[in-house]
Amino acid sequence: MSVLKAAAFSLLVGVAATPVSSAAAQATKAAADTAAIGIPADVEIRELRSGVWIHTSYYTYPGGVRYPANGLIVREGDGLLLIDTAWGERLTLTLLDQIEASIKLPVRRAIVSHAHGDRIAGTDALEARGIPVYALPLTQRRAVGEGMPVPDQALAGLDTPAASVQFGSVELFYPGPGHAPDNLMVWVPSQRVLFGGCAVRAAAADSLGGIADANMTAWPEAIRLARARYTRAKVVIPGHGEVGGPELLDHTLALLKEARKPGK
Ligand SMILES: [Zn+2]
Repeated sequence: MSVLKAAAFSLLVGVAATPVSSAAAQATKAAADTAAIGIPADVEIRELRSGVWIHTSYYTYPGGVRYPANGLIVREGDGLLLIDTAWGERLTLTLLDQIEASIKLPVRRAIVSHAHGDRIAGTDALEARGIPVYALPLTQRRAVGEGMPVPDQALAGLDTPAASVQFGSVELFYPGPGHAPDNLMVWVPSQRVLFGGCAVRAAAADSLGGIADANMTAWPEAIRLARARYTRAKVVIPGHGEVGGPELLDHTLALLKEARKPGK
């Protein structure tokens, strides 16, 4: 956490702890102060291209450090396809409320892009609202092992690297193991948007992020497969951090090359 952010955080805590006449007033004041000092809301939705939104949820680690995770929302006719839950059940319910308030269309289906909490933790919350959640069979199995909620719908035909299937208006692409054995990518051809998920790193990222389940040998090939297939991509979305273009794929390859240098 930067000094500025730390200062802002303690300021927020200080303000929130001040006694006020009612809980509602306190919440309103805290929200206003949060906005005023630049701390983002827990969940944000931003339209990137026509009918394509990014959702960003902020997980708060013990100690108060907030870390963002990106997912995607795609309009399909009079409904929406959601890619990845928010980071936790509570934030996923907040996300659904925000979608209802700002996009005003129902979420009809959801896909989770691998079995880590920032992608899958809100699965039960979605299914409780009647939204079917799709995942690779590998992701379903890994979810059991990770103690995560298990998506109820299996995606067939994506078992081998470079496999792709059409899913409504989008293409699902399995580039092979990378950040995780089951990392899935999503291509929105109409808007030339590639959701790379956690296999792709943001331009500002100077490391590969969480690599506990990564396959460092296969990961570069996964990125090269995605780069070769989606040469038309205009927008590339990483799992965490700022949206970019195809250069994010090259940046990820450079980080992988650096990480595999002898002595590292
Ligand atoms: Zn992950």
